[in-house]
Amino acid sequence: MCPSDPTEGSVAEHIKAVRDNIARLEAVYDREPGSVQLLAVSKTKPQTLIREAAATAQIEFGENYVEEGIEKITELKELGLIWHYIGHIQSNKTRPLAAHYDWVQSVDRLKIATRLAEHRPVDSQPLNVCIQLKLDDEETKSGCSIAELDALAAFIDSAENLRLRGIMTIPAPREDIAQQRAVFAELHNVYRQLEAQYPEVDTLSMGMSGDMEAAIAEGSTMVRIGTAVFGKR
Ligand SMILES: *Cc1c(COP(=O)(O)O)cnc(C)c1O
Repeated sequence: MCPSDPTEGSVAEHIKAVRDNIARLEAVYDREPGSVQLLAVSKTKPQTLIREAAATAQIEFGENYVEEGIEKITELKELGLIWHYIGHIQSNKTRPLAAHYDWVQSVDRLKIATRLAEHRPVDSQPLNVCIQLKLDDEETKSGCSIAELDALAAFIDSAENLRLRGIMTIPAPREDIAQQRAVFAELHNVYRQLEAQYPEVDTLSMGMSGDMEAAIAEGSTMVRIGTAVFGKR
């Protein structure tokens, strides 16, 4: 799949094109219409572009840098947007994360989950959490392994101010759609087991601008799209 040319057209046009593409792929791969959500990844992009996206009724936004995201969350408060943190988590950042974001998708170890639970303000809704999962043969450092998943899920499920929503994953880029699909299919299998165990689990966050088609084919419920919406970074 080729992301729309980021140098042409407005953010509103890009979002419409991405949404049309998601709807088309849902049909092609026998997915229920509307079963794949769009998370607009706005990292490094200015508030003016986020406002343009919000004007198309885009509600969910993703950020990778804790403070940059908090600035936007604070200044765009009146828009009622929902903010997802999808970047790497350092343990000294759990307090601001828990205080400001609606979702944290990149929880990959018990220490981080414990601190987020401690730091979520008592008057806030429970923090929505996805576990960032990696397959055993992925080189990346971030991500919980399949062996560690059960214990981490059980802790998040038991914490009153955390709500376990599912799995987020960032496989290494692969050119070939068949290879992309093989990895996503394996992740979907793990997701299905989690979903069977925990009734609140409803989110499989996988797929970016370059591998959205393969992710939708293999059961993604949320694609995280930056470049195809906001242009190159
Ligand atoms: C930047 C980023 C995205 C969006 O990537 P694009 O290729 O620009 O669509 C998605 N997920 C994560 C975790 C990211 O860091």
